[in-house]
Amino acid sequence: MTTPLLLDLPVPSGEDAFLPDASEMLEAGAFDPARFQEASIAIIGQVRAHLENASTRGLRLTEPRDLMRAARSLMTEDSGEIADLDEERLSAIVDLYLRSGIQVYSPGYMGRQFSGVVPLAGAIDLASAIASQPSSYYEAGPLPSAVERIMAEELNRFIGWEPGRFAMVTTSGGSLANLTALLAARNDRYPGFWSDGAAALGGRVPAIAASEDVHYCVGRAAGMLGIGQRQMVHLPANRFGQISPEGAEAALDAAAERGLDVFCLAASAGTTSLGAYDPLDELADVARARGLWLHVDGAHGASLLVSDRLRHRLRGIERADSFSWDAHKLMFTPGVCTLLFYREREKSYAAFADDYRQASYVTDREPSACAAFDSAGKNFECTKRPLIMNLWVLWALYGRALFARKIEYLCDLAEQTWQLLRGEDDFQTLHRPECNILCFRYAPADPRAREIPGLQVAIRDRITENGRFFISKVDVEGEPALRVVFMNHRIRMEHVHELLQEIREIARDLPA
Ligand SMILES: *Cc1c(COP(=O)(O)O)cnc(C)c1O
Repeated sequence: MTTPLLLDLPVPSGEDAFLPDASEMLEAGAFDPARFQEASIAIIGQVRAHLENASTRGLRLTEPRDLMRAARSLMTEDSGEIADLDEERLSAIVDLYLRSGIQVYSPGYMGRQFSGVVPLAGAIDLASAIASQPSSYYEAGPLPSAVERIMAEELNRFIGWEPGRFAMVTTSGGSLANLTALLAARNDRYPGFWSDGAAALGGRVPAIAASEDVHYCVGRAAGMLGIGQRQMVHLPANRFGQISPEGAEAALDAAAERGLDVFCLAASAGTTSLGAYDPLDELADVARARGLWLHVDGAHGASLLVSDRLRHRLRGIERADSFSWDAHKLMFTPGVCTLLFYREREKSYAAFADDYRQASYVTDREPSACAAFDSAGKNFECTKRPLIMNLWVLWALYGRALFARKIEYLCDLAEQTWQLLRGEDDFQTLHRPECNILCFRYAPADPRAREIPGLQVAIRDRITENGRFFISKVDVEGEPALRVVFMNHRIRMEHVHELLQEIREIARDLPA
C-alpha cells in the first residue's frame, strides 16, 4: 500500500469547509483573551506569594528523574482534542516551577550572579512575549528599536562619548556579546577574513590576549573565530586577579617573539571569580601603543557605572573599543538582556559584513530612514527578543537611582562582610571586594580542622545539603575558596553572621 501524498488529500471546500469552525474554536479556547487574563491573575498571585516568602533557604535540588516524573504527572492526556484549560493543573505547574529552583529572593541565596528581578520587569516581559515584536528590524519592533537608542544615550552619560559617534546594540547574553565584539575586532584587523577565511591571513597567526581569569566564553570565542584556543596569550594577574600592565607588556613582547599577531586585548570589569576590575586606563595605553583592539568584558561589573560612588572602578572605560554589559545581572532585569557598546559607530558593523542587506525578504533596495534603527547589521540574531524593554521601562519609571542604590547596598554588604572576616581569627580573607563578590577561606588554628581533606569544598557541600544557604566555591591561586555573591537586598549582616556560624559548626562536625 502506498501512502497518499499530502497534495492528494481531499481539500475541504465551499460551505462545508471546517475553516470557520476551527477559527471559532481556537478563539474560544486557548486564544481567549478573557480566560488568559483570569489564568494569568492566578499565576501572578502565586508569584506574589513566592516573592513574599523571605525565609532563609538555599537550594533543595530535586533529582532529575523525580522532577521528570512530577512534570509528566502534570501533563494532559493526548485525546486528539484540544484540552480544556485546567486551572489546577496550571497552578501545580507554576508551583513546581517556583519551588524546584534556586530561591533567588531568599536571603539564603548568595551563590551565583543571576538575580531576582525588579518584579514589574516581569510584567513587562509578559507584555513583550505576547506583543511579539522581535527587535532586529525597526518595522518589527518599533518601540524597542527606538528606546534602544534612548537607553544608549542615557547610559552614555556615565561613559562620556560624543553623542552620535558611538553605538550600542543588545544581544542575547554576555557570551554572545563578547563573541560579537571579538568578531568585530578580528574583521577590523583582517578585513579579508570574512570572505576568504584563513587564506586572508597571509601567514600571520592571529591571537587574543587575556588574563587566566577571563570568562570561559572568551576562550570559546577564540575557537569559534578560527583563532584557536592555543592562540590565547595569557596576561599575568596580581593576587587580586587584576591584569598587571607591566606583566601585560612583557607577555605581549614574548607573544610577538613567538610570531603571534595579537590583535585584541580582552580585559574584565568584574571577573567572574573575584569580581576584580582590570586597570582599564593603563591597559588602554598598552593597547593604543600596540594598535590592539581593547575589549572589556563588563558582563558582571559594568553596572557600577550608574553609581556616582562606584563608577571609578571602571576608570578608562571610555577608551575601550568595545565593552559588554549584562543588565540581567546587576541591573536586576529578567534574563537575558545584554548591552554591547562600541566607541566608534562604524565599528559596530564590523562583526558582520553587510550580507544581511542582500536578504531581499527583509530589506529594500533603497533603505528608508527607519532602516537606520535596524539592529540586524550589528547582532547575530534575526528574531531577537525586545531585550531592552525590561530595562528601559524600569529606568523610565523609577530612574537611575533604583539601580544605583541597590548596587551600592550590595557592594557595601560585601565590604562589611570583608571587614567582619578580617576581625575573625578563624577566617582568611583573600582580597578586598571591588564589587559584590567576595572570596574567603575558613582556616581555623585548630590542627584537626587543617587535616580535613578538601575543607572548603566539604563546607560548601554541607551548606548546600543543610539547605539554609546557597554559596559557591572557586579556585583562587589554584586553591579552593568559598565565594559569596550578593545579589539580593534582603540579605542583612545578621544573615552573614548566621552563615559564618553555620560554617564553624559544619567544620567542627566534619570527620578529619
Ligand atoms: C556572566 C558573565 C559572562 C557570561 O554572560 P552570559 O550573559 O551569562 O552569557 C561573561 N563574562 C563575565 C565576566 C560574566 O560574569
